[in-house]
Amino acid sequence: MIEADKTVLTTCPFCGVGCQVNLHIKDGMIYRVDAPFDMAPNYGMLCVKGRFGTDYVMHPSRVKTPLIRVNRDEPRSNPPVWREATWDEALDYVAENLTRIASEHGGETIAAYACAKATNEDNYLLQKFIRASFGSNSVDHCARLCHAGSVTGLQLAIGSSAMSNSIAEMEHLDTFIVTGSNTTETHPVISNFLKRAVRKNGAKLIVIDPRQIELTDFATLWLRQNVGSDVALWQAMAHVVVNEELYDKDFVARRTEGFDDYIESLEHCTPEWAEEITGVPAEDIRQAARTYANAGAAAIYWGMGISQSVHGTDNTLAVANLALMCGHVGKPGTGLNPLRGQNNVQGCSDSGGLPPYFTAYQRVDDEAARLKFEGAWGGRELNPKPGLTVTEIMDGALDGKIRAIYILGEDPMSSEPNLAHARHAMEHLEFIVCQDIFINRSGEMADVILPSTSFAEKDGTFINSDRRVQRVRKAIEPIGDSRPDWEILCDLARRVEARMGVEASAGYDYADAEEVWEEMRSVTPDFWGITYERIAREGGVHWPCPAADHPGTPYLFEQEFPRGRGKFWELEYGTDSEQPDAEYPFILSTGRVLFHWHGGTMTRRSSLDAIWPEAAIELHPADAERLGLATSDWVNVKSRRGQITLRVLVTGRSPEGVVFIPFHFAEAAANILTNNLVDPRAKIPDYKLCAVAIEKTSAPDDRPETEVPLTERGAMQDRAQQVH
Ligand code: SF4
Repeated sequence: MIEADKTVLTTCPFCGVGCQVNLHIKDGMIYRVDAPFDMAPNYGMLCVKGRFGTDYVMHPSRVKTPLIRVNRDEPRSNPPVWREATWDEALDYVAENLTRIASEHGGETIAAYACAKATNEDNYLLQKFIRASFGSNSVDHCARLCHAGSVTGLQLAIGSSAMSNSIAEMEHLDTFIVTGSNTTETHPVISNFLKRAVRKNGAKLIVIDPRQIELTDFATLWLRQNVGSDVALWQAMAHVVVNEELYDKDFVARRTEGFDDYIESLEHCTPEWAEEITGVPAEDIRQAARTYANAGAAAIYWGMGISQSVHGTDNTLAVANLALMCGHVGKPGTGLNPLRGQNNVQGCSDSGGLPPYFTAYQRVDDEAARLKFEGAWGGRELNPKPGLTVTEIMDGALDGKIRAIYILGEDPMSSEPNLAHARHAMEHLEFIVCQDIFINRSGEMADVILPSTSFAEKDGTFINSDRRVQRVRKAIEPIGDSRPDWEILCDLARRVEARMGVEASAGYDYADAEEVWEEMRSVTPDFWGITYERIAREGGVHWPCPAADHPGTPYLFEQEFPRGRGKFWELEYGTDSEQPDAEYPFILSTGRVLFHWHGGTMTRRSSLDAIWPEAAIELHPADAERLGLATSDWVNVKSRRGQITLRVLVTGRSPEGVVFIPFHFAEAAANILTNNLVDPRAKIPDYKLCAVAIEKTSAPDDRPETEVPLTERGAMQDRAQQVH
């Protein structure tokens, strides 16, 4: 029996559930991970990633010292040649280049990617540095690429984009809809609460998804809509609710606006009209609408299947319209709940990692907010113009609007759609800094790598999907010469200020992460009542929490919405997505598998990679038969933007004519194929729908047969979906 030297309570670094984990440390290494039974949100449960995936922290490819690119005169796509540097040398080099670019081309030509994996304290300081030192508001992060449709739609409908209800309510649900979320694989512990609601409480579950996900086994009703037809389906459900007078008249009168115009616009949206578009039988649409509307309390949960669309904003508005009409918001067991992806994607947005906002959605173009931040940041004049989004930053690199990018822990070279376009844009940049624990695809194109610490080597806070502020605690010493992100940023910001000769510093002298949080909460009314001491005592606190004696807010909107009344938005179904044709006859949808996380930077360097070591394209049996393909055959998958090679997994999970590829695998990067067409308001790309062609090929020389036969994978995945 191994005795731990110490056990440290912290927060899982993978998904937005924010499970509390105990890291058992022996000889400076994490040798076991488990979960306390008495702590929200997971109460002892962990999925396979949290329990077995944290060994990436000790992976030999961790960057241990600052690196400066030697072959800068060659194209960025050439393999980098690095030389090791001291911290002083590397930070002076970065400060020199950023200051020069700002003085030659203007500070607004400097952009930053904030990081949904880093702490709130790290992200707060990144946006402070970029906004205060350079006057640039072009700070954005991967929420743009996963939930911007949800954020924009919910802001329009109710004025708030956070998940409105808590994870703790899930187990007690009465009725709920899950749409565009393969929850069992993306948020496994949440899916366990949802399954318990069905099994223990007899809750009614409606799944709306083109793919046969595990939750369909638990569903009262499964509506299998055609990919991209969501607006028509939700409009038809609203039509039924209006037509049969099932809506909540009191709630509509007291809490909403625009209802009369909205129901007029719904007139043609009959279930039969929607059946033509969505492929869902009209009677099922009626039944789903009645089940949701007649429930005492009903919640809606969704994932990237709703938001990652050229119609992501409209999809979200359609969902919000139905919830407002039925009065299923502002009470326990109800709500509009976008399930956030990464561990701290909620916190990164809350910390000011979005172009138009300081912390907690205080707008940069709001004079009072701006003056407050100017006062807190040494009187530095701040820019009132919202900056560029991540997709606009890439375009800006091509037309000279952006000259330098500071990338904190992100990998646009795997997360951007149409990677050939992204590579072309990155090649145009004068200067790229990557601050990360590994050298990822973007890092390979950088001028400087600044090695940062992982979640296990630093202090700070994350905010999970239900707005719960939780602690991250240092459990092991930094690997090599790596330093916490917040500390690197402070050191760099001081060097930039010295070169700029500023009269008063914006303030980068913090003793520890707690001091950063103290400054952050002092300028953020929603965080005022949340301290490290209180988090330690209570485990976590849901924001908004405006005072020390405020209990926090597990569910939102009991009295009113941030925009006052909830607003109904008239919608017109249509599609701007790329459609299949004779040349590219299949629809491609992308997503995750249980064993991996996002670009795979962490999980592909963990023991989980041995279980799920390669990408596979899911192909319907009828399509496989027509193409003469069987599981394990190699295929080229082509779109108008590029081609990848991977093996086939024949399965009925996706409907005929639709294929699915997970996006974790750099050697078969799904985003080489996806389209960079974006939602006009949210600027989120159309990841869930593009047209592809498939042709059989032979095994590439550089891709060995993997140890786990593909035919075993389906069964293994089903077993692993059980949460331990
Ligand atoms: Fe970590 Fe999410 Fe799994 Fe919980 S459900 S252990 S937060 S990956």
